Amino acid sequence: MILFEKIKDKINNLKNKNNLPNPVNDKLLKREQNKNSDEGIVYGSSNNLSKNFSYSEMIYSATANKYKIDNTPDNESLANLKKLCETILQPIRDKYGYPIKITSGYRGPKLNQKVGGAKNSDHMFGAAADFKATHGTNKELFDLVMKMIKNKEIKCRQLIWEYGTKSNPNWLHISINHSKNKQKNNQVLYIFD
Ligand SMILES: [Zn+2]
Repeated sequence: MILFEKIKDKINNLKNKNNLPNPVNDKLLKREQNKNSDEGIVYGSSNNLSKNFSYSEMIYSATANKYKIDNTPDNESLANLKKLCETILQPIRDKYGYPIKITSGYRGPKLNQKVGGAKNSDHMFGAAADFKATHGTNKELFDLVMKMIKNKEIKCRQLIWEYGTKSNPNWLHISINHSKNKQKNNQVLYIFD
């Protein structure tokens, strides 16, 4: 019975995910129609922020869907999301050679509070993403990202080893500097319970 409930939850989540693009597309359309404004970003029909990262996956949240929280980023957060995808996530994905699973990207203030995120979380500014490996371990992906930072292939604000054990994190967090939170680059942190 519990298993059945879990499967039902999964199906509902998928349904929510499939329903998501409609309001999102409407918003994007408005942006496209508004080319003379100072929006700065005009999206193609693919809604991609970079080659392999879509707008939908960067704002998706099962919690937001569940509690009907509007998680639409403002223009500044959107610009940050695009920079995050182009300058960090895409280069990592290219080097890794496999998809990386984004578990949390943009989190508006309401959603961030709901999931118990840090008060001044970079996620609230579209400047951070949590992600996991789809091939090999999260530790191997962490090592790859560390190597890219060392080789100056990418520049981040923070790379965080999030929970798990000393041999494997539950997920990785990476962020870019942005106007609300400028600090020293390439801080590497390890967070445990
Ligand atoms: Zn995070």
